Amino acid sequence: MPPRVVVSHSQNRLLYAIFFGALAGIACGWIFGPAMQSVGWLGELFLDALKMLIIPLIGASIVSGINSIGAGYRLGRLGGITVLYFLVTTAGAVLLGMTLANLVQPGAGANARQFSAPAELAAQGATTLPEILRSLISPNLFAAVAEGQLLPIIVFSILLGIALVTIGEHGRVLAAAVNGLNEAIMKMVMWIMYFSPAGVFALIAARLGSTGGGEAFWRELSAVGLFVFTVITGLVIWFVVLFAVLRLLTRHGQSFLLNSAQSLIMAFGSASSSATLPLAIQSGLDSGVDDRALKFVLPLGISVNKNGSALHIAVGVFYIAQTYSGNLDLAQQGIVLVTVTLAAIATAGIPQASLVTIVIVLTAVNLPAEGIGLLLAVDWFLDRARTTVNVWGNLVGAAVMETQVTDGR
Ligand code: ASP
Repeated sequence: MPPRVVVSHSQNRLLYAIFFGALAGIACGWIFGPAMQSVGWLGELFLDALKMLIIPLIGASIVSGINSIGAGYRLGRLGGITVLYFLVTTAGAVLLGMTLANLVQPGAGANARQFSAPAELAAQGATTLPEILRSLISPNLFAAVAEGQLLPIIVFSILLGIALVTIGEHGRVLAAAVNGLNEAIMKMVMWIMYFSPAGVFALIAARLGSTGGGEAFWRELSAVGLFVFTVITGLVIWFVVLFAVLRLLTRHGQSFLLNSAQSLIMAFGSASSSATLPLAIQSGLDSGVDDRALKFVLPLGISVNKNGSALHIAVGVFYIAQTYSGNLDLAQQGIVLVTVTLAAIATAGIPQASLVTIVIVLTAVNLPAEGIGLLLAVDWFLDRARTTVNVWGNLVGAAVMETQVTDGR
């Protein structure tokens, strides 16, 4: 029997407050411009408080998730289907981005000379498959923790979780302690969430303000208007597609969307899916998603499943290609589909990580890496939009995977 969904009045009030905070942030950043940078520290403080919890939360949540799922067939099936789901939805988002870029042709007629790229971005080399595989394991776990590398921590936590389940009595003692740690961290998430209206306000107002206010922002957007239009249209369509997936494959619906709103606004405010993870887990719990699926799928998904980034990277590569040398031929489009799908998985859940990934794909299809300069000015804004879709994709993913653990609970 799935847990009953209870949305309390205080949760509702918090949601309205966050929504109001985001709107007020847009209004103040728009009107007061650079002056709003003075509240930037408040946003950073809020983000740091959330980031403080990410690593212990990922470790505790995966170990405790595996502990309640068990280490046998059910975990294997959940893991396999989750990875398949991530791959299919990422490839779907890339295909949508490519289709829109072919239809709209955002780069036709754009002028590449107007823009240039910072040397450190343009100098990014290609990442090879062995490099990606090696990044999964860190020889020094403490170094990985200190540097905030999530993938090695996830791999270690999965192995530790499985080991604890298989060693029997001794494992149960530690697993119970980790369950307690997980609950305590979620309690801390709740406390920090009370500051989210102010945090989201400050993050948005300071960032919009730093572009010079509303008019300057609008000028920047208009300079690459068709590109922005293509990306935003794609993200909106993909958001709706994921909602349809949610309705078709799960027992969830509108209230799930409502409960996710806090995380989505937070994703927009922070431009970081990693920083949104604590709130995303809370949103899933509020919607009554089975906590075993949540604890396993969300930390994994936040690190490797980025539908919004995938779509943005695909449109970005097409835009740069169209600007420099005309549209890509069919063979190149095939290469873009495969490389973007894989590269999106390697994109970190931090602000503007896609820019680095785009350079990797550009190199793979022999396009000039400086092309990235075309996308820089508006990227802070598109980053927020794609991060929102990244988080939504993972919340929906957790709800879909719930069906894999609930049968025979
Ligand atoms: N900012 C994105 C995220 O955190 C990654 C990116 O596309 O740049 O999910």
